[in-house]
Amino acid sequence: MVQEQKAFDVIILGGGAAGLMCAQQAGRRGRRVVLMDRARRLGTKILLSGGGKCNFTNRQCSAENYISSNPHFCKSALAQFGPGDFLDLAGQYHIAYEERDHGQLFCRRSAEDIVQMLIELCLQHQVTFLLDCSVHSITKEKQFIITTNQGTITAESLVVTTGGLSYPQAGAGDLGYQIARQFGLAVTACRPGLVPLQYNPVEQSILTELTGISVEAAVTCRNKTFRENILFTHTGLSGPAILQISNYWLPGDTITIDWLPEIDVYQLLLDRKQTSGSAAIPSILSHYLPSRLVRLWSQPPFPDIPLAQCTLSQLRRAADSINRWPFQPGGTEGYAKAEVTLGGIDTGELSSKTLEAKMVKGLYFIGEVLDVTGQLGGYNLQWAWSSGYAAGCAV
Ligand SMILES: Cc1cc2nc3c(=O)[nH]c(=O)nc-3n(C[C@H](O)[C@H](O)[C@H](O)COP(=O)(O)OP(=O)(O)OC[C@H]3O[C@@H](n4cnc5c(N)ncnc54)[C@H](O)[C@@H]3O)c2cc1C
Repeated sequence: MVQEQKAFDVIILGGGAAGLMCAQQAGRRGRRVVLMDRARRLGTKILLSGGGKCNFTNRQCSAENYISSNPHFCKSALAQFGPGDFLDLAGQYHIAYEERDHGQLFCRRSAEDIVQMLIELCLQHQVTFLLDCSVHSITKEKQFIITTNQGTITAESLVVTTGGLSYPQAGAGDLGYQIARQFGLAVTACRPGLVPLQYNPVEQSILTELTGISVEAAVTCRNKTFRENILFTHTGLSGPAILQISNYWLPGDTITIDWLPEIDVYQLLLDRKQTSGSAAIPSILSHYLPSRLVRLWSQPPFPDIPLAQCTLSQLRRAADSINRWPFQPGGTEGYAKAEVTLGGIDTGELSSKTLEAKMVKGLYFIGEVLDVTGQLGGYNLQWAWSSGYAAGCAV
């Protein structure tokens, strides 16, 4: 077995985005690195990301794009290795990419390009891969001692990068949190993020009639607003605006949706009442919104009578249900459909510069396993690159 013949300085547990970045950087510095994963292949989530095209970073990336109990924690790692640094690396490997809305950068060909680049960088710097490798136990004496189905491995540094709980079908699990607890580190409560929101039972039967409709809208919760597409599905609301707001939504919260953010609907109806009072509210709104959506609302609060006969309070109610539609989700679609996990290893336990545990020398946590979660748009992979690089410079 590989580990019986070689001595290692660094064990990296998890061969995803953060683990691969950390491994290549530590290897580049001459550290003897072993990267182990229970999966048979490396970078599974990178391959799934961005619909197979991997939204690998974002041109505009700052601490504002992250959610964490400590909103400043991510700053140091992002400053050490930001989007421009990743682009330089991708440039050396001639990876073709394209920019989409909101500064999101995607591979032109395939996410495979990114995984291949990281694997090549690791091999160039003599990183040893141990795949299909399950951990049995981890202890620390002078060094970390890990027993696995492939034998025992020791090293002075252990980097834990086993990711979050989302997408268990892609190999996600809770080993990272278990290791943190074993060494006395706090873990904050976890919940699914970047996830579709379900209808509540009261509205479900009405709203499923709208399945397939997609509308650009502005969605607000807890003082955060995102303006992007919303998609009606059989079970709830999805689309980028909903995934974004799901990171801020907590059970019991009501989300406000503005279906026509460009238009003050009350003013529009008032103007029409004064100029062409013969039209009814539904027929006016059909010019701006899909008619199936308007038809659903063609009962109160949208009286199907000429505007001239509508009272101002009827106009106000109708306008509010377009510009301020309250939606109380019944829940989320859970980890099976969530792109990320909110919460994780408490950042207060770690150095923001090196990602090393303050109380346990040589123990590092990087990537999604930490209580640092990005918004939609390439920020989660950027966090994996940044935190992986920072730890790779320190181990
Ligand atoms: C469908 C989908 C699409 C996404 N799209 C994007 C996108 O376009 N842009 C973006 O920025 N982010 C995207 N994300 C989020 C992003 O992929 C993750 O945040 C990122 O991959 C996290 O990297 P990581 O290295 O921390 O963890 P992971 O990539 O999850 O890697 C963890 C590794 O640890 C291994 N592991 C887990 N448990 C064990 C164990 N017990 N023993 C050994 N090994 C173990 C796993 O096999 C895995 O290889 C997407 C996520 C999903 C699910």
